[in-house]
Amino acid sequence: MKAAIFKGDGVMAVEEVTMPEIVWPDEVLVEVEAASICGSDLHILSVPPGQYGEPGTIMGHEFVAKVIEAGPWVKHVAVGDRVVIEPNIHCGVCPECRSGRENLCRNAVNIGQWRNGGFTQYCVVPQKQLHRIPKDIPAGEAALAEPLACVMNGMMRINPMPHEKVVIFGAGAVLEQAIEIMECGGRILVFGQNATQVSQIQPSEINCKELMIVGALSTLNSFPAAIELLHNPNLKLNKIISHEVALDEIDKGIALMRSREAVKVIVYPGGVR
Ligand SMILES: [Zn+2]
Ligand SMILES: [Zn+2]
Repeated sequence: MKAAIFKGDGVMAVEEVTMPEIVWPDEVLVEVEAASICGSDLHILSVPPGQYGEPGTIMGHEFVAKVIEAGPWVKHVAVGDRVVIEPNIHCGVCPECRSGRENLCRNAVNIGQWRNGGFTQYCVVPQKQLHRIPKDIPAGEAALAEPLACVMNGMMRINPMPHEKVVIFGAGAVLEQAIEIMECGGRILVFGQNATQVSQIQPSEINCKELMIVGALSTLNSFPAAIELLHNPNLKLNKIISHEVALDEIDKGIALMRSREAVKVIVYPGGVR
């Protein structure tokens, strides 16, 4: 099968690899239907990297797939189920995990970063990382369940109320801008990760306006909310899908994201229909 592999130093290559096999009894073999390119993938492919990627790993952490085979301990999904993947595998025993912040796990093994991900045809994933998703949701939109779950984690952290005003800053905005524009008592959600980005803030602006700055990382109990939302026609998630490419053309998709011509690019390992 073909897979887009991170080679290190900003390089990704589509290569022929052997089909993965179930090793642990709680693992599931899935066939990838569609995967979405994330800003994080661009950060991994930047030099210096804005996010870590383990060389030799198949990239892609936002994907929808079909269960092909299930290990003997798998109870939660069955062959034929359509699933979305929660990519961050936590250890369950570190202080962060034990305090209920599994998304901050210090021993996390993220799919598409340290462990083979979804920019390929088949992938092996532990059952606890899978969430069933109805078959009537279009593949491209279903692939966006993960970024939507990240958004929902952020929303659940700041709990915006219907009477409140909201400002959304685009990618790469600096914290100074948000602090400047914010009214007294406002809350700022810092979302997305790029280790190369720096900010110079004046602490007095925060305390004089009694601002609250809240960070959010990946997903925490937010997949069910995201999957529920995928059914909501008001969401119009298909509007942010700007391009669709086959796995062989994934470089093109990355380039479109980098040049900001694309918003979300969906990759189809089986080719675009
Ligand atoms: Zn992502
Ligand atoms: Zn942990």
